[in-house]
Amino acid sequence: MQVVDDPNEIQDCIERVRISGKSIGFVPTMGALHIAHESLMQKAVSENDFNVVSIFVNPTQFGPGEDYDSYPRTYDEDIKLCEKNGIDIVFYPEVQKIYYKDQSISIRIAGLTDTMCGKSRPGHFEGVAMVVAKLFNLVRAHKAYFGQKDFQQFKVIERMVRDLNFNIKLVMCPTVREYDGLAVSSRNRYLNSSERQNASAIYAALREAETIIKNGERNAETINKKINEAMQNNIPDCRIDYAAVYDAVNLSEVDFVKNDVVVAAAVWIGSARLIDNILVKCEV
Ligand code: AMP
Repeated sequence: MQVVDDPNEIQDCIERVRISGKSIGFVPTMGALHIAHESLMQKAVSENDFNVVSIFVNPTQFGPGEDYDSYPRTYDEDIKLCEKNGIDIVFYPEVQKIYYKDQSISIRIAGLTDTMCGKSRPGHFEGVAMVVAKLFNLVRAHKAYFGQKDFQQFKVIERMVRDLNFNIKLVMCPTVREYDGLAVSSRNRYLNSSERQNASAIYAALREAETIIKNGERNAETINKKINEAMQNNIPDCRIDYAAVYDAVNLSEVDFVKNDVVVAAAVWIGSARLIDNILVKCEV
């Protein structure tokens, strides 16, 4: 396995792999790798001849006061995990190698970013879109792998790929969970032990909403109330950023559940902002 830190060098490496006719899989990450990242790597390795992981804590997707500086950085363990999972190249650039000080373009994905996390994290998805666009141009993969945990991120990247004609196939991989249902996340390490215990109530509340929808409830107000109450009752001192039912295609908040929906939440527990979602298929 090779570690490459230079954008020109990664482009040269990829060019050689492409000429050899190999298929290329790509898993973009911010490092602090865990079993969910491993599941993405394993999927990529199972579907491609040559696989690349990027590790880059992207400053432009963090807002002022967010955890950019304190975001966990575990380079040595990350490299071992990539090697163990059969990755061919880890791309690990410094910030100055990715961003120009006088960069003058931005990518704004209207609509999809005005809802859910986009509301409370202004600029976040612009930052995500920009870094993913850059990474897609550097690592010209055939397929890129993302987790369903960041469902809105997936939809935003999917739209960018469509609107800007990126020649890449996106693969959404299932959310990997802890034994009690909590979605695995690099930010779970911010939780103390009682917060960690209570955090399982996020997924439990989403499951409850899924069940009532499957049992025929269609009124979003009723469903949203249930999710919010379940979390407030089971997670002392939590701050709910959002917890509601959204259209699974355009991510707008729905009044009535008519089509496929995503039941999604972002919740502050202590210093951790945790997100999760469940996709619920609905027949009209
Ligand atoms: P991150 O390093 O947190 O930016 O995540 C890199 C990729 O891993 C993204 O595509 C995430 O959606 C994905 N990911 C993170 N946590 C999970 C999880 N619990 N299950 C599935 N995918 C995940």
